[in-house]
Amino acid sequence: MTVKLAPHAAIAAQSRGRRHPEPPPKGRTAFQRDRDRIVHSTAFRRLEYKTQVFVNHEGDLFRTRLTHTLEVAQIGRSVARHLGLDEDLTEAITLAHDLGHTPFGHSGQDALNACMKPYGGFEHNLQSLRVVDVLEQRYAAFDGLNLTFETREGILKHCSIANAHRLDDVGERFLRRQRPGLEAQVANLADEIAYNNHDVDDGLRSGLVSLEQLATVSIFQRHMRATLKAYPRIDQRRLVHETVRRMIDTVITDLMRESARKLREHEPRNIDEVRKLPAIIGFSPAMQKEQAELKRFLRTHLYRHYRVSRMSSKARRIITDLFQAFIAEPDLLPPEFQTRAREDAPRAIADYIAGMTDRYAAIEHRRLFSVEIA
Ligand code: MG
Repeated sequence: MTVKLAPHAAIAAQSRGRRHPEPPPKGRTAFQRDRDRIVHSTAFRRLEYKTQVFVNHEGDLFRTRLTHTLEVAQIGRSVARHLGLDEDLTEAITLAHDLGHTPFGHSGQDALNACMKPYGGFEHNLQSLRVVDVLEQRYAAFDGLNLTFETREGILKHCSIANAHRLDDVGERFLRRQRPGLEAQVANLADEIAYNNHDVDDGLRSGLVSLEQLATVSIFQRHMRATLKAYPRIDQRRLVHETVRRMIDTVITDLMRESARKLREHEPRNIDEVRKLPAIIGFSPAMQKEQAELKRFLRTHLYRHYRVSRMSSKARRIITDLFQAFIAEPDLLPPEFQTRAREDAPRAIADYIAGMTDRYAAIEHRRLFSVEIA
């Protein structure tokens, strides 16, 4: 089945290709193959036990990095299809976007970055690319997943100039100050839409944020009021879901409308023209303002809540302890990482730690630091 794509879409048959040339897949496009390889990867399965905001043991219903990823993919696909873009490429990018994330969410990433400061730093976005380019070892003919240029370009959302110089063709756009294709731009915004909205839901579920507090945020207030007006006797759980559902709908509709307007304004004829233009996929100015307000609220009331901070502080200590123990004694690393540590010990240690799930990191910490005497 061939879907008619817009001229500004990424065209699978015209992909810039893979680092290790392979015959084209049968019965699916190059981007579908990328997506399938990502789903089959080890790093993808690990997302289930990695923190988004709430650590896995805090409750069964909070988002994990896996369910977050699935929500991003679903939003990304809807937007991509609406704009005539390649849905499979968008899906591949969204499914891979957090593969390089450390255990324990952002505090884990910050701690590992601090440990790696003298050795070139650690950035989860760059690590996602490293996972698909190097770290996955499943195929006989090459390391990594050997994905297409377009998927790799989308995974590398941002990158410092210093790192861009060290990378191959995916680093070039940062030196030329160019944008990635539209599928990548959609994936990026889908990530933002997913976490802003599911963090509202998880924040309320956890009790760290109250409805009264959220009612001070204009987009939430507007949709909560409309829901209450239509359903005055609605119970609280449904009120939250209905409000969040309406928020997501408004935000996505705004994104589609504004992006379609920019496409009409610039009329890019192909993906290379897209790359040279300013960002096409984005919110209207009014929606940007509302999203910024929501983000500020979440930062102050949820991400910096003392109960979240306690967990982040514990996570920082676990990551830092592990890193220091391995740097002092690389012999403590599992054999496959010892081999790589002989070339570049700090990077091998960062790869090992970044690949851990929350619970694996906690167990490894206990193994190294606690002596249990019966
Ligand atoms: Mg994400």
